[in-house]
Amino acid sequence: MRSCPACGAEYTDKAVVCSDCQASLVEGPAASTSATVELVRWERVYGPPDQVAALMLQGVLEAEEIPVRVEASTMAAYGALRSSLKAEAWGALLVPAERAEEATRLIDEYLEGIDADPSPADDADADG
Ligand SMILES: [Zn+2]
Repeated sequence: MRSCPACGAEYTDKAVVCSDCQASLVEGPAASTSATVELVRWERVYGPPDQVAALMLQGVLEAEEIPVRVEASTMAAYGALRSSLKAEAWGALLVPAERAEEATRLIDEYLEGIDADPSPADDADADG
């Protein structure tokens, strides 16, 4: 068996390069490139309707130094994700379980802020 060192996809011995990222395949299962992989329990805190919302909220959480993982349910890299058929959201935002409560609160506050009247963006106070 061969595997792609970049994305971890597995191939038969006949394959030479990864069809996804054109990386040269290596023998055996994909080895983790980083030795310091910590076991983090990720918890889903929000199902963004699209990628833009996902990235915006990722920025909001990372501004509070909360690690964020964005997973798109449309991604087929890990084979047939049957469960994604049930998901109506574009994907999921995941944070470490111990930060989930804080992240949920920040997301709620942020979404409430969107509903409120936005303040004028073109303020007289120019930048520079
Ligand atoms: Zn690959």
